[in-house]
Amino acid sequence: MTFEVITIFPEFFASVLEHGLLKRALAGGRVSIRLRDLRDFSDDRHRTVDDRPFGGGPGMVFKPEPVFRAVREVRSGDSPVVLLSPQGRLLNQAVAERLAQHAQLTLICGRYEGVDERVARHCATDEISIGDYVLSGGELPAAVVMECVTRLIPGVLGNEESSQQESFAPPASSNGAGVLDCPHYTRPAEFEGLRVPEILLSGNHEEIRRWRRRQALEKTWRMRPDLLTGAALDDQDRRVLEEVQQMERLGD
Ligand code: SAM
Repeated sequence: MTFEVITIFPEFFASVLEHGLLKRALAGGRVSIRLRDLRDFSDDRHRTVDDRPFGGGPGMVFKPEPVFRAVREVRSGDSPVVLLSPQGRLLNQAVAERLAQHAQLTLICGRYEGVDERVARHCATDEISIGDYVLSGGELPAAVVMECVTRLIPGVLGNEESSQQESFAPPASSNGAGVLDCPHYTRPAEFEGLRVPEILLSGNHEEIRRWRRRQALEKTWRMRPDLLTGAALDDQDRRVLEEVQQMERLGD
């Protein structure tokens, strides 16, 4: 996977690329990341990339020419061109999985009031938001997209299984699809009077597996009930959820 990142702040990514998963993936040759300074695609000697909005209003807007020029130069074939924008479709694991299928991804980072709308309509293939809030620039969102896509690339995570067991894992995964991950605990078994659930210390793998599934379902019901609509649930899962809901009704 090659990420082409179009930004006016290439140096913004230094720390992100020098730590953790992205650093490892880069060192292992699983991904390459090319930081493209949008100003290099400006055609005036002041390297201008923005201008005032037509119709008035505050702030500046990225002009279309440098962005179109940059995309035309870096994009290969019909690979996805993602405009990071709070107005885009929300990023989720399914979107990350779709993007991870490609060999190249171009990411356009906006700034100021945003990017000339012709980029969204005629240059980008996808407009993606990382959440319903507004940030000052598309660099953090681009880093988020790169990280969640990279961890889906085979060989990047140490244990091949681990992305399959996490929250939002796909239908064929061992997590049983669409529910949140179970809670995790580590040593010490007791901390300031707070004990780890005894079952996890029992060594009974089947009981632990059932307990984890129950916890995952319960947490999904409490935090993200919307996910359960699309989740792959078996009869046992449904029984657990009925119990959880009944206990909640009794608690009310
Ligand atoms: N005027 C825009 C609006 O209200 O929709 C906001 C522009 S924002 C201040 C500047 C840039 O930050 C955007 O062009 C985009 O690239 C990026 N950005 C801000 N919030 C974002 C989000 N939630 N997801 C993705 N990109 C975001």
